[in-house]
Amino acid sequence: MNTYKYLFLFVLSLSTFLDAKSQTYADLNELTGFSIKAYYSPGNEERAKVIVGRCEKTIEYVKGLVGFAPKVSLFILNPEHWKKYATFPVYGMPHYPDSERLIIASEDNDFWKSFIPPLDQLPIDLANQIRKAYTTAEGTLSMVAFFDLLALHELGHGFHEQGGLTMQRLWMQELFCNIMLHTYIAENEPSNLPALEVFPEMVVAAGTTGYAFTTLADFERLYDNMDPKNYGWYQCRLHVAGKNIYNAGGEKAFIKLWKGLKENKVKMTDEEFVPFLNKKVHKEVAKVQTDW
Ligand SMILES: [Zn+2]
Repeated sequence: MNTYKYLFLFVLSLSTFLDAKSQTYADLNELTGFSIKAYYSPGNEERAKVIVGRCEKTIEYVKGLVGFAPKVSLFILNPEHWKKYATFPVYGMPHYPDSERLIIASEDNDFWKSFIPPLDQLPIDLANQIRKAYTTAEGTLSMVAFFDLLALHELGHGFHEQGGLTMQRLWMQELFCNIMLHTYIAENEPSNLPALEVFPEMVVAAGTTGYAFTTLADFERLYDNMDPKNYGWYQCRLHVAGKNIYNAGGEKAFIKLWKGLKENKVKMTDEEFVPFLNKKVHKEVAKVQTDW
C-alpha cells in the first residue's frame, strides 16, 4: 500500500516538476556551445551567439582580474516573450528579475531609438559623433550598440552581489558596474569606446536643467524611485566617472576597488569613505564623492 502511495506521490511530483519546467522556457530555444546557460526567442540565434559570446568573454576577463565569476543565465527575448518573462515593463532595458537571470532584448526597438536626439538641432561635431557611434547595420540611427554594452553593466551586478562585496553606497554599486564595463571595453574592444562614451557625454554636457534631483544624497534616498530620465542622468554621470577612473588608474583601479569592497564589511560614514577610497582604491574614485 505504502509503495503505491509513494509511487503515486513520486509521479505527481515529477509531473509537477516537468510542468513547471515546460511552462518556464518551452517556447524558447536553448543556446548550446557556450559556458553560460542561455535561452533565446526562436529566430534570434545569431544575435544570441553574439551577446552570449561577449558576456562569456567579459566574465572570463573579469574573473582573470578578481578571481571570481558569478553564475548567470541569459535570456535574449523578442517583444512577445519579454511580456511573458521580463520584470521590467519597457522592452529594451536589460535587467535581472532575480540575481542569476539576465534579460536582454533581441530586437531594435522604440525605446532605443527614442534616445537619439534630433541631429539637425545639435552642433555639427556632436551630430557627427552620434552618427558614427550609433548608426546600425541597417543604416538607421538607434542606441542598440549602447544598450548591448549595458548588458555588461548588468553582469557587474552579478559580480558584486554573488562575490560578497559590501557596496557601501547605491551610487557605488552603479559606479562599480560602470567601471567594470568601461575597463572591459577599453581593454578588449577599444573600437566600441565611442558607442559607450558618446551618449553619456552628450547627456552630461547638456547640463542639469529639468532634472528634479542631482545630488548623491538624493540618489541614495530615492535610487530608481524617480523619473527614469532623471535616473538615466545619474547613470550617465557615473558612466563618465567610470571612464575617468579607468583613464587615470587602468585595470588596477577596478581590481583595488573589488578588494577594498570585499575586505571592508562595515558601513562607513562619508568621512571614513573618502579617505578609504583615496588610500585603498584610487583618488579618482574618491573624487566621485568629493567633486560630484
Ligand atoms: Zn545597475
